[in-house]
Amino acid sequence: RMFDGATHKLDVWSIFTPNNLPPDTLNLGQGFMNWAPPEWVREEQHRIMDTDVMSNHYSQTRGRPRLLKAISKQYSKTFGNLVKEGRELTMEEIVVTAGANCGTFAALVAHIQPGEEVIVIEPYFDQYFASIHFQGGKPVMVPLHPPTGSGEKTGADWTLDIEEFRAAFTSKTKAVIVNTPHNPTGKVFSRQELEEIAKICVEKKVLVLSDEVYDCLLYDGTKHVRIAELPGMWERTLTIASAGKSFACTGWRVGWVIGPPALCAATLAAHSRIVFCTNTPLQEAVAYALETETEHNFFADQLAAYTERRDILCGIFDEIGLSYTKPQGAYYLMVDFSPVKIPKDYAVPPTCQGRGEDFKKAWWLAQEIKVASIPISEFYAAEHANIGERFLRFSFCKDPPLLRAAGERLLKLK
Ligand code: GLN
Repeated sequence: RMFDGATHKLDVWSIFTPNNLPPDTLNLGQGFMNWAPPEWVREEQHRIMDTDVMSNHYSQTRGRPRLLKAISKQYSKTFGNLVKEGRELTMEEIVVTAGANCGTFAALVAHIQPGEEVIVIEPYFDQYFASIHFQGGKPVMVPLHPPTGSGEKTGADWTLDIEEFRAAFTSKTKAVIVNTPHNPTGKVFSRQELEEIAKICVEKKVLVLSDEVYDCLLYDGTKHVRIAELPGMWERTLTIASAGKSFACTGWRVGWVIGPPALCAATLAAHSRIVFCTNTPLQEAVAYALETETEHNFFADQLAAYTERRDILCGIFDEIGLSYTKPQGAYYLMVDFSPVKIPKDYAVPPTCQGRGEDFKKAWWLAQEIKVASIPISEFYAAEHANIGERFLRFSFCKDPPLLRAAGERLLKLK
């Protein structure tokens, strides 16, 4: 069993949560904002709970009709294949889930049998690994190769060797998980990369779970391509998205899965046995957010604000002289911490022992410099953890004053 009390390794988020760190630590660890969701969305949230009794009770398992409609309206125009067909997503092609995390989990429960393999591109969001294991499935890693040489690096410099990807398939391969914009590197997979991946997935007849939760955070004009829109892919892809990242409400746990009716039906069946339904009032508020975001120019303004935050954080590491990957998307900065040395005998708690050197560094950084980050070996399978050990991840879904204050502290590393 993966989670028996004796061997349970605490998840990285719980180790580097502010609750476990000195109270004055500035938190650039787990990816959540230090501001509230937009006021106009919260007003609707309060209004709906106060005026609509039913909004305080169970939702339809698939999701509240108003939210399903809003998702259909918003997302139909973002899938090239649907635009070409001149149609909108039907209700059978959407499932509202308790966050993207539970959407991914439900999709795996629905589609993975014990012994089946799921190809995961490494580094990967750590929850995939645990979720695959829960089904008795086997994660099979294919690396993104880290940037080499000097000079500015962007997410595009993390590269997938398509022959390595092809070689990872066996007769047991059932699914592939793709994540773009990518956590933790900030890579946005190019159309060409996704076409190469898609071609093999079609040939091998596998299911694709495409985690696109950061799809509204794309910098420098980078284009987001949905793998589901590529030839032969709609019928085999579940696209996973989230309100948390798009509307600064990560704790609301409202996400959704989009795909063909048969794949959605199985995911819905699993999801309704896991949590039954997603919380009702916040689904209503998210529906309102999607319905009215253009009136507020919300996504455009939000993107401009994130670009500024990214550049502040990049500027800090430029000044310190530590190299990083400039993100094309999402809100994380991967910094190469290998030049930073900490005292050899630095004491870390049991939760950080027996894990990568990056856990020790992240612990030291939180205790001594008072800035929280996330160690990246957690995003690698044990046998490749040494690659991840070089990096710490810093979230920039934090406002400029917090980023600047963290910057002042981090400058001590110079
Ligand atoms: N996706 C977020 C991050 O990478 C939150 C992690 C989580 O849900 N456990 O920081």
